[in-house]
Amino acid sequence: MSGPTLFERIIAREIPSDIVYEDADFIAIKDISPKAPIHLLVIPKKVTARVDEIAEPLEMGQLWLTAVKVARQHAQDYRLLVNCGQGGGQVVFHTHIHVLAGWESGPDSDT
Ligand code: AMP
Repeated sequence: MSGPTLFERIIAREIPSDIVYEDADFIAIKDISPKAPIHLLVIPKKVTARVDEIAEPLEMGQLWLTAVKVARQHAQDYRLLVNCGQGGGQVVFHTHIHVLAGWESGPDSDT
């Protein structure tokens, strides 16, 4: 079964979310189940299932530049994280970068 991804439905405003950034090509939302004091998702509007499906350097570059821009709007220090595939912990198969930040002295985990 295929249809719009969860994030496409968020982009289309079919599902409510807390949008913190949007331009012609990207959207950033607050994660519904935050794993850090600040937890955002930076999502390309052009759908790929996982980050390694992005073949164009410009597209990949724009994604990371947007993630950095959004992160810097919310924190000075931050972690960018991508889960790629089920074995990598990916649950939503529409490419996205996690922005995690806001800890007093860095994340607890050593990964
Ligand atoms: P991943 O495991 O990398 O696929 O991450 C998917 C993320 O999407 C998880 O951190 C979820 O908490 C988050 N998520 C799932 N549903 C929603 C939603 N409706 N709004 C915002 N974030 C969501």
